[in-house]
Amino acid sequence: ERAFSTFSFQGFMKNVKSRNAKPYTGPPQKVVVLGTGWASVNFFRHLDPNIYDVTVISPRNYFTFTPLLPSVCAGTLSPLSCIEPVRSLTYRNGRKVADFYEAHCTDVDFKNRIVACDSRQGGHFKVKYDYLVIAVGSESNTFGIKDVAANAFFLKEVEHAMAIRKKVMNNFELAALPQTSEKERDRLLHFVVVGGGPTGVESAAEFADFIKEDMSKYFPQLIPHVSISLIEGGSRLLGTYPPDISAFAEKTLTEELHVKLLLRSTVVGVDATSVRYVSNEPGASKEPKELLHGFVLWASGVGEVPLVKKIIAENFPNVEGKPRLRGLPVDAQLRLLNQPNVYALGDCAAIAPPRLADAAQELFSKAGAAEPTPQWLGRHAPTLAQQFPQLSPLKFNFAKLQSNEHLPADQFKSFLAEIDAAYRPPAPTAQNARQEGIYLAKVFNECPHPEEKADAPAFQETWNGSLAYVGSGQAVAHLPYFNIKGGFLSLPFWKAVYTQMQITWRSRTICLFDWLKTFFAGRDVGR
Ligand code: FAD
Ligand code: MG
Ligand code: MG
Ligand code: MG
Ligand code: MG
Repeated sequence: ERAFSTFSFQGFMKNVKSRNAKPYTGPPQKVVVLGTGWASVNFFRHLDPNIYDVTVISPRNYFTFTPLLPSVCAGTLSPLSCIEPVRSLTYRNGRKVADFYEAHCTDVDFKNRIVACDSRQGGHFKVKYDYLVIAVGSESNTFGIKDVAANAFFLKEVEHAMAIRKKVMNNFELAALPQTSEKERDRLLHFVVVGGGPTGVESAAEFADFIKEDMSKYFPQLIPHVSISLIEGGSRLLGTYPPDISAFAEKTLTEELHVKLLLRSTVVGVDATSVRYVSNEPGASKEPKELLHGFVLWASGVGEVPLVKKIIAENFPNVEGKPRLRGLPVDAQLRLLNQPNVYALGDCAAIAPPRLADAAQELFSKAGAAEPTPQWLGRHAPTLAQQFPQLSPLKFNFAKLQSNEHLPADQFKSFLAEIDAAYRPPAPTAQNARQEGIYLAKVFNECPHPEEKADAPAFQETWNGSLAYVGSGQAVAHLPYFNIKGGFLSLPFWKAVYTQMQITWRSRTICLFDWLKTFFAGRDVGR
């Protein structure tokens, strides 16, 4: 066990420097990476190929730039603009940096360090590893609600976006047929989006734009039948943004795009032609209301992929009285609990840092008789956060604390327990998955020996802001120093940020050409 008093970031860097004096000369160590998403691609692209022999395994032979998927649903962008072939990502400056197998991992034998895989085209195989990096992402969570998986569309992959576009086009063509009844037209052209987070809002906005700007030209007779509803359980859209941004998004969607908002409403069932929901307003009737629909997009909730469910069930059995785990539990250095050579990052992992309250005794005596105060802890937070990420500025705000009282040992401990309880693992975003991938590659590069890796400083995410397109040429942004609520420059800003975030010039170029094409010639209305 490592005592906090012997740990410092400076000490860690000094070790790294002395190590760098004599370069790594051992045999290449075998790293197996599961997944080709945000976390994994940023990890293996930053890894030193002189030290590690990398094998990437994923059922998708491309990386998906998820933030642009809503635009693909409406045909604003083509599918090619948001995927990146993995084969080309495994080369860097003409040098091969990783092998790739198109397969999904079905099981991990932690004891013998072997992963079992099923090829996408049939056949099984096994691969040995020295280090395993699990970055398999997440699935939409239907919260066990009946028949959602069978009757709703999800939006996680580019195939989903293409299927959604096809469904929308099919419904328009069906509604246009002469024998289709008026009532059936209303149903076919009612698009329901469940979930008022960024994905739900952007998808509703893109559908509404598509209908207003393109379909109204080709199907003018059908426009009176078209409606879009957005159902959200909370009291506002974009719940993680400031309230004035939510209000702006709600106003744009309802007033300019005629999207019907159903806030404080929980969906309780989805079947082939109807959605049932109940109001969760206190005192409201619990009688389900029914909406007929032509299409439902389920854009709500983060759940575990089958492999993660399996690993949790087999290795982290339910502890009586504790809530079930969400995601693979990792320590502050992203190592799977109890498995020092296995790492998990991105959406599939949840950081469970060492508890401050458990180190209370040590911290109390370190502060000394003079100063066991919240301010003392606040002053030392930057150093201590290298081991306890719950002390990083994004997680706990010492500036807000009023009192600077000396605390007796038991109160000092309960103050630490309060900080532990306030900790939330990094949110499941591309931004965080990318940072985790780059962080882990740095740790691997700077600490080639297994023992050194254990001393790495904790992962601490930084927050660069959040953006969302809310339709009608308006985007919103919640940024560290200021916010943006629409305006004629907001959409160019949104586009510039995403173009810059793309990982190759290939997809930047495709994206720019797609936007130009949509601007001058409209979206495609074929299939
Ligand atoms: P993913 O990127 O999902 O990658 C997981 C990989 O694992 C995939 O390649 C998958 O095929 C593979 N895999 C799955 N199972 C197995 C298995 N058994 N064996 C091997 N491989 C497997 N985040 C933002 O920060 N900003 C945004 O604007 C934003 N917009 C989004 C819009 C949409 C529509 C969606 C769906 C998500 C958005 N996100 C956004 C969230 C972001 O996409 C995720 O947080 C991010 O993809 C997580 O990265 P990851 O590497 O953990 O997983
Ligand atoms: Mg990944
Ligand atoms: Mg991805
Ligand atoms: Mg995902
Ligand atoms: Mg995570």
